[in-house]
Amino acid sequence: MSSTSSTNPGWVWGQVPAYTATAYARLAQRFGAVIGADPATTDTLLVPGEAIVALEAVAREAGATGARVLNVATSQYGRLFGEWMQEEGADVTTIAPPVAGTAVSLAQVVEELETGYDVISFVHGEAATGIVNPIAGIAGHARRLGVVSIVDAVASVGGEPLTASSADVIVLGPQKALAGPAGIAAVTVSEAGWKALARTPRRLASLSSVSLLDIRRDWLDAGQVAIPGTPAPHELWALDAALTAVEAEGPDAVVARHRLAAAASRAGLLGLGVRPWADDPAQASGLVTAARLPEAVDRDAVVALARERFGVELTVAPGGAAPQLVKIRHTGRTASFETVVAGLGALAGALSALGHPVDTGAGLAAATEVYTA
Ligand SMILES: *Cc1c(COP(=O)(O)O)cnc(C)c1O
Repeated sequence: MSSTSSTNPGWVWGQVPAYTATAYARLAQRFGAVIGADPATTDTLLVPGEAIVALEAVAREAGATGARVLNVATSQYGRLFGEWMQEEGADVTTIAPPVAGTAVSLAQVVEELETGYDVISFVHGEAATGIVNPIAGIAGHARRLGVVSIVDAVASVGGEPLTASSADVIVLGPQKALAGPAGIAAVTVSEAGWKALARTPRRLASLSSVSLLDIRRDWLDAGQVAIPGTPAPHELWALDAALTAVEAEGPDAVVARHRLAAAASRAGLLGLGVRPWADDPAQASGLVTAARLPEAVDRDAVVALARERFGVELTVAPGGAAPQLVKIRHTGRTASFETVVAGLGALAGALSALGHPVDTGAGLAAATEVYTA
């Protein structure tokens, strides 16, 4: 076990040992360190609850300043984020790419951003559709205009190159590429990020479970001596274990392993003769590789055949957003050759069985070649 981890408590399910405040402070720093957060300039806060709780906390307090917000929605997460901010009083403009389920173009965002905003919010990587939005261009342009950037990186941390300094507020989740628990998340906040947050003016209660400012008051500004609230210790130990594994592999190696699986899956699709969902490889996710099936193909039949005959779970985009989209999920520990080859083989087999022959050999050879090179 790595020296950075707390000692293995040896528990099973009962009598979970307490997680100490010292280890809790370290845990937040270790999570931030996955994206190179420098504690001198950036705070990393742990937020108990699934990642959407951290996202709501950010949205509510970013909305409460009444800021002019440009919200980019490339999935239901982005739309929801904009709605939360608007509920709190922000003046929110939501834009979406012209084709649902695709990445937003830098040009579209820049043109809108020039019209005058205080804050921009967007999702970095979309696990739903397997696309990645151009974070460097968007956040870089926002910074030049003095616009605070807020990024949902739950489905990109560990799967795409990402550094804490690229945006002012970044929401991280351990449960996707980092192969960690789903019941705790983290948020990195720069000095400019803190200035963009405020408590809702209507608030009466002294404590909110969706408030970064309360966590700051009760933890960062209180000497980090008592963990605020009662986060489930199982989640803390599980996050500790997940980060220990990430540290042992190296965060860059985790990203490289995901990018390799994505590159091989993409090459495999092209070898099969199936069009990748993202036309530009720079916009293709490291967590999942989405394919665009021809209109004549019954996507649900492909998914069913892949499961029944090949034992492989191909997935689809939620909410019917992209009816011809089907995904090979290579997230976390499954970002491996095994997953890629099984996914491509099952897709090829299902398509052929349904009367849409593809070049299975060429697809598998192309994927293998990527791992060989
Ligand atoms: C998975 C995901 C989340 C977090 O969802 P939870 O259901 O809370 O785990 C947030 N944003 C994006 C883009 C995601 O893919």
